[in-house]
Amino acid sequence: MNFADVILPVPLDGCFTYAIPTEMQNRVGDGMRVLVPFGRGKHYVGIISKLHDQKPQGYQVKAIEALLDEQPVLLPGQLKFWHWIADYYMSPIGEVYKAALPAGLKAEEGYKPRTETFIRLTENYRNEPTLHVALNMLARAPKQQEAFIAYLSLSRWDTIEGNVCREPVLEITREELMNVSETTLTIINQLVKRGLLETYEVEVGRLNHGGEPHPDRIKKLNAAQQEAYNQIIFSFLQKQVTLLHGVTSSGKTEIYIHLIQRELDEHRQVLFLMPEIALTVQMMQRLQRVFGKRLGIYHSKYSDAERVEIWQKQLSKNPYDVILGARSAVFLPFQRLGLVIIDEEHETSYKQQDPMPRYHARSAAIMLGAKTLLGTATPALESYYNAKTGKYGLVELKERYQGIELPEIQVVDTRDLQHRKMMSGPFSPILLKYVREALERGEQAILFQNRRGWAPMLECKQCGWVPRCEHCDVSLTMHRSMNQLTCHYCGMTYQIPAVCPACGSKELQGRGYGTEKIEDQIRDIFPEARVARMDLDTTRTRNAYERLITDFSAGRTNLLIGTQMISKGLDFDKVSVVGILNADAMLNQPDFRAYEHAFMMMAQVSGRAGRKGRRGLVVLQTKSPELPLIQQVVRNDYQTFYQNMVEERLAFHYPPYYRLIYVYLKHSKDEVVNTASIELGTRLRQWFGDRVLGPDKPSVARVKTLSIRKLVLKLEVGIDMPRVRKYLALAQQQMLQDKRYASLQVYYDVDPQ
Ligand code: ADP
Ligand code: ZN
Ligand code: ZN
Repeated sequence: MNFADVILPVPLDGCFTYAIPTEMQNRVGDGMRVLVPFGRGKHYVGIISKLHDQKPQGYQVKAIEALLDEQPVLLPGQLKFWHWIADYYMSPIGEVYKAALPAGLKAEEGYKPRTETFIRLTENYRNEPTLHVALNMLARAPKQQEAFIAYLSLSRWDTIEGNVCREPVLEITREELMNVSETTLTIINQLVKRGLLETYEVEVGRLNHGGEPHPDRIKKLNAAQQEAYNQIIFSFLQKQVTLLHGVTSSGKTEIYIHLIQRELDEHRQVLFLMPEIALTVQMMQRLQRVFGKRLGIYHSKYSDAERVEIWQKQLSKNPYDVILGARSAVFLPFQRLGLVIIDEEHETSYKQQDPMPRYHARSAAIMLGAKTLLGTATPALESYYNAKTGKYGLVELKERYQGIELPEIQVVDTRDLQHRKMMSGPFSPILLKYVREALERGEQAILFQNRRGWAPMLECKQCGWVPRCEHCDVSLTMHRSMNQLTCHYCGMTYQIPAVCPACGSKELQGRGYGTEKIEDQIRDIFPEARVARMDLDTTRTRNAYERLITDFSAGRTNLLIGTQMISKGLDFDKVSVVGILNADAMLNQPDFRAYEHAFMMMAQVSGRAGRKGRRGLVVLQTKSPELPLIQQVVRNDYQTFYQNMVEERLAFHYPPYYRLIYVYLKHSKDEVVNTASIELGTRLRQWFGDRVLGPDKPSVARVKTLSIRKLVLKLEVGIDMPRVRKYLALAQQQMLQDKRYASLQVYYDVDPQ
């Protein structure tokens, strides 16, 4: 073969053809990396997609400069998978390349393992009595004692029950201890010298190497779980995809563990996908307990070096048998994948929003071709529809483990209470009463508000002026702890003005409630409570997130305020009250999925209440208690919810009956994007008729100084999609030939969430 089609990390459609120098000809192969020249004086690491003998016409073909691999870094199935994603989601293959491959494999730099120094308690002090001896010993060295206690608290040694503590809950680096406790290297070294602490080196990327696998630790399933397990196995005989619809805390995870072990026994691999924010240390530990070093973990908070290492391992003779990962783990190489599990399959974060490719990990994972299990308490409408219509298998698990009851949900009419001036800010009297009682009984409470920051906007009381972002068409969110205004679209921050620039008044007030303000007010109301807040602002680092969770589950905090983050993957035992502060904010989103998302969010948040012990209580505050959806949440009536939703979707031509493609246009000049979108709409209507809607301004019509327009395509499910994509590409191409539109950006969102 004389030519190679090469995938390059550039935002252009298609592959690029290069000549293969003679000396490389018997060494090149699909999926290998090559160094190639591109454009003026640039070089890229590309991936060979195809070898062939067709000399390209009309231009001078350049030659491959270097072959970087002896073995492919992509398996044959993966190349096909990349091309499928590029086609289906209408994204250049180069963007798929950028998203899929860890950066370390894209650059020429070789990967060098890096090590980090960790600290732990020495063997001798891993039990309560000797620990006390140690603390007494340090009584005269207060700085060392302080550092030692800080270590115990950080690593969670102190939360372990009984007095034999074998392992810390969290591994702590020396660096981290120094940062958090403001101790010094000298002091830590003194503790090491005394034989209390010891250091150990861990290769970054080896952090999650567990010990020996322990299949004997797999929990025995109860009758209902066993029945579900059997049904799943049976379902896989007929269907590639099966949906496990199981209420929260029914033991879905225990069933997954059994299914994983079954694959391992057959020498097949398993990919276990979770939403990024549900991927907690607790979950990793649950799997690691059983699968030990056969388990690898892969997600975006890992360093690139770690991801390179896992990638290489998956290509080696000794790959991880189980990968627990977030969305991007679908891109890992698997040599003998037998099963994919997608937990919390309804989660919208499985869809990548920005940048391209805007792929859905659920749909993509199914394309990997292995048996696929979708698990959730609240199936995505599409998934349930596919199950109901026989495309997927359906298995249901209706009872919680050990018969723990689902929570009681009480609806509170906040409009009425506001009218009667009975609300204390965002809190109804009944919610405060329940929270108070829970705290008095030594139980915990969660308050859910899906807005971070202090207030969604700042407003001048005199003239109504509202500060907006200079670059985006949105009002700014007020963050009081950081004393600034922030744009949640572009990240720009601004000073809070002392006086209104419009009228000079000093009366500027935050309007509405974000989690920060909720936290502030709740601290006033319950000064005794140990309050914590969990949102994007308090969980910038992975450790901060884990710490909030461990603190809450260990009872160090007892009142947790948070955004949707709190609804995921947490198994809290002592939560007896959950407050949903403002259901309306979720219902009033300008999106055809608003009700679907609202139902799922409320059902999931409610599921946090009463997992063990007494029956949980949920207070659902809303201005529209009469809404059928609210009643469906109260009765946990997924069936009626589903029925209502699909009727509406059918009537208004939405998924699962129609497929949607959003076409976005962006340009720095509003007039340009305006005429361009009208023109594109006209072109598309020639082919698609009234399947085309718009153009419209999206609810945020300018982001990062670019004006945006949106066209919507509603297509029949059976439609010839390759043809549709061809027409879309053609229309775009014709448009971009017009000089006025030279810098116009056009992109697509296929199956928007
Ligand atoms: P889900 O994934 O459906 O939310 P989990 O698997 O997390 O449910 O189960 C909830 C709790 O019940 C967990 O603490 C789990 O360990 C426990 N549990 C579930 N099934 C069993 C079982 N068969 N034996 C022992 N414990 C179980
Ligand atoms: Zn003003
Ligand atoms: Zn902005």
